Amino acid sequence: MNHFELIGGELHAENVPLSAIAEAVGTPVYVYSRATLERHARVFKAALAGLPRSHVAFAVKANPNLAVLRVMQREGLGADVVSGGELARALAAGMAPQDVVFSGVGKTATEMVQGLESGIGQFNIESEEEGVELAALAAALGQRAPCALRVNPDVDARTHAKISTGKAENKFGVPIDRAAGIYARLSALPGLDMRGVAVHIGSQLSQLEPLEEAFGKLGELIAEIRAAGLSVTHADLGGGLGVPYKAGEVFPSPEEYGAMVARVTARWDATLMFEPGRVICGNAGLLLTRVVRVKRSSNNTPFVIVDAAMNDLARPAMYGAWHDFDAVRPNGSRMAAHIVGPICETGDTFAMDREIDAVEPGDLAVFRTAGAYGATMASSYNSRGFVAEVMVDGDKFAVVADRIVPEAISAAERVPDWLD
Ligand SMILES: *Cc1c(COP(=O)(O)O)cnc(C)c1O
Repeated sequence: MNHFELIGGELHAENVPLSAIAEAVGTPVYVYSRATLERHARVFKAALAGLPRSHVAFAVKANPNLAVLRVMQREGLGADVVSGGELARALAAGMAPQDVVFSGVGKTATEMVQGLESGIGQFNIESEEEGVELAALAAALGQRAPCALRVNPDVDARTHAKISTGKAENKFGVPIDRAAGIYARLSALPGLDMRGVAVHIGSQLSQLEPLEEAFGKLGELIAEIRAAGLSVTHADLGGGLGVPYKAGEVFPSPEEYGAMVARVTARWDATLMFEPGRVICGNAGLLLTRVVRVKRSSNNTPFVIVDAAMNDLARPAMYGAWHDFDAVRPNGSRMAAHIVGPICETGDTFAMDREIDAVEPGDLAVFRTAGAYGATMASSYNSRGFVAEVMVDGDKFAVVADRIVPEAISAAERVPDWLD
């Protein structure tokens, strides 16, 4: 469910015609719907309403725009961050430090101190080495860092290999068969307050079974740790719930997910934490683009060349991902086409042999479901600028990230005087 619909023959974001945004801000531009973001945050929280104690931390990496984070903060969500930059954003958006969870395998000492000095709610430690380092930093500041140990449950998430994180060969977490021992050793360090365990097996999950398997293993680990006389008050179940990218695809709903969690964790007696990203913001955004040219090809299927490219939306080039492509003013006819961007890489291809709304040079079109892992993965490759972002709220809209023009990027570069 989202608020991007045809009204009077033109695609709108809530009540705003997309042509008005293109006119005011130019293209390409990301467009987010506040109402859709709020709806998804509420649906997710409602799905967990049956759990005794829960905490939802929005995965900032899915969409770190400050306005998006502000919507999450107003909906009562905390933040799951994976860098000092994301931590600073979460706090700038008004999130309480207590509501922030810091994940990631490569937290630097500087980032750990930043987290300690901000008073964040939980560090998710991804190795024994990291725990030892954090303990020393916390002790030096006279603190005990609240921590969960992230475990790698060795479960096949049945998703794209590049976004699977819970198989033994992935870099994340500690092997689950060694986790109880590591937890015990870290619990003995005065700088740490070991309070829980965490798991996150991957992203864009289309089935609940791998999650259920991972949660089941986590439950056994909690029992094992407690049997050794140690305390577990928190269990972080991560994120990963997938969303449909193709019209008509069906994914597990937050309700089904919540029911599964309630069943599996019924006897855990712990505060359950969640880190959803994509499921909250994925279809709350789209990438608005303009057709530059339609080029004949050698086999009759034309190339539709749009002004958005792989530097603006990396998912198709990176993961072979599908984004539905729709004309902003569909004229009723259809065409077969390859959809490509202007970048000098064959990988700059959004779709091959796709049946789409017929479009002509100058027409506006959208890539749907681009609200997660979209703008945040943008680069300036080919000396293209950074794409602008807009948020719509009813019949108004605001630019929530300026377009960064190529000149602003090269202004940060220097030619040393010894090259004169
Ligand atoms: C990326 C990530 C998430 C969010 O994943 P989604 O698939 O967007 O829900 C949650 N937790 C951790 C640790 C992550 O790395």
